[in-house]
Amino acid sequence: MHRALLSFAQTLLIEPRCPICDGPWDNPLPPTAPCTTCLDALALPCQGLKGLQPLPWCALGSYAGPLRQLLLKLRQQRQGKALVALVQLLSDRFTLPATAVLVPIPSWKRQRSNPLPQRIALGLGRPTTELLHRNRAGLSQHHLNKRQRETNLIGAFQACPLDRQGAHCSVWLVDDILTTGSTALAAREALEAAGHRVAGLICLARTPARERRR
Ligand SMILES: [Zn+2]
Repeated sequence: MHRALLSFAQTLLIEPRCPICDGPWDNPLPPTAPCTTCLDALALPCQGLKGLQPLPWCALGSYAGPLRQLLLKLRQQRQGKALVALVQLLSDRFTLPATAVLVPIPSWKRQRSNPLPQRIALGLGRPTTELLHRNRAGLSQHHLNKRQRETNLIGAFQACPLDRQGAHCSVWLVDDILTTGSTALAAREALEAAGHRVAGLICLARTPARERRR
């Protein structure tokens, strides 16, 4: 009995588990990385995804298939290890400039707000500052079309003014998903009006063009 317990405890202590599926970990990468089965299933592009519209952005992959399912789960279940693993992959793929300061985009909902932008920013290991605040509780962007989203966002954010340190920094906005970019553009506008320089947005996933048009 004792021996079985001891062996079970050793398994827990010694054998690394995949941070996403909790299965046996079989990867030559550090044990914060997902197992090869999860990596194959996620099929993330080696170089990540990048673009310039509607503002410069970079993402781990497309908001579709297994990555989409995983992110939906992360929002609800707060699976810390899986998020850490994804953020590590994101930071492996994109080296932000040394002067980068991260600003998570605040959630729309006051209750049950989305914790991911802030946790992604903290996981990226760069200075993070909450420069943005919502002026009012807008409608959730989720069910609005592009035009409604833009209207919903007018004057939605307010940014803390530039301090002396901020003058040397470039701001990277952080969000979990980039869809139309309306929220990011409204956030950038508020930051720039307060004197900040916004270099772009870093996120976990970019909604594919066919979904954005819907
Ligand atoms: Zn796995």
